[in-house]
Amino acid sequence: MNNSSVEDLKYIVETKKKVLIVSHYSPDGDAIGSSFGLANFLESINVEAHVYNKDQVPDYLNFLSTKNFHTSLKTIPKDIDLFFALDFNDFERAGDEMVSFVEKEVINLGIPVVVIDHHQNNKIKYGSFLIDTEAASTGVLIYRLISKFGKSIDENVATCLLTTIITDTSSFKNSNSNFESLKVSADLMDLGADLSQINDNIFKLGNIAKLKLRTKIHSTLLFEEKLKVAICYAKRSFYEETGTSKEDSEGISNGLIFYNDAEIGIFIREVQDDKWKISTRTNNYIDLSVFANLFGGGGHKNASGFTFDGKLPELIKQIIKNLEK
Ligand code: 5GP
Ligand code: MN
Repeated sequence: MNNSSVEDLKYIVETKKKVLIVSHYSPDGDAIGSSFGLANFLESINVEAHVYNKDQVPDYLNFLSTKNFHTSLKTIPKDIDLFFALDFNDFERAGDEMVSFVEKEVINLGIPVVVIDHHQNNKIKYGSFLIDTEAASTGVLIYRLISKFGKSIDENVATCLLTTIITDTSSFKNSNSNFESLKVSADLMDLGADLSQINDNIFKLGNIAKLKLRTKIHSTLLFEEKLKVAICYAKRSFYEETGTSKEDSEGISNGLIFYNDAEIGIFIREVQDDKWKISTRTNNYIDLSVFANLFGGGGHKNASGFTFDGKLPELIKQIIKNLEK
């Protein structure tokens, strides 16, 4: 995989009329902010932009919007002339429906693909790439691209892109925070990004039901002092008993590594009987993408994930065993 120059990507984009922008399922602030930011910018320069995500926009990101948002492939226009993959590097991360759509309706028809992402281990073979694992968010890369157009970037686009940085860096607290993330944030504020709107929406704690859920989850804490790993889990019953959903346990693994003696935070969520979704975080202690690869998952050095089929004690045993290695 070779990256294209930003100038080449600009040329690819500005010659198009109708684009589709896709991000990963269970979208976070970067997936939504980078997709909507790019779409709203393209609309402002008269490119028709459609955004697809397998899942709805989570409540805490509902302050961001775009004209054409689809959660079904049926409503996507047939005549798109450019396909963007944002914030993922494996089409499976966009859902099974998208995997076959890309094969049949994009690659087979020769529609150009542009992948813009900041994850490790790219698995996409087809297309042009803007991948930088040093970038704090995919939104930073979108800013690199659209600032080359020499067209005005409005405050709505700026708010979308600033959201990607605030969420992916946890307000510059995560180790992916760097000079460019601060520089781009300053530029976006200058363009009118609404930081207080972002903070009001992203960091509100939610309802007491969410506190009840998180109290249950935190009560499962297992701390392996030697490995510096803190592990918590959530059974499906936790959500049922508190009337909450999976969005209400976002950020659990990240929260664990704010404790001094925990270098690795792991959150395990029951998806269905004997099926678990694992979310891991660290601040430069080990490479978590390598760890997740051992289980068939992936991600970044500092944040990765995977799914596991089997019993919870077996999963925890394998996690400990693989960390010891
Ligand atoms: P999260 O913990 O927020 O769900 O995921 C953190 C990061 O790990 C994501 O940005 C994503 O790149 C990666 N990730 C999470 N789950 C999976 C998975 O099942 N497979 C792969 N390949 N990557 C994942
Ligand atoms: Mn991201």
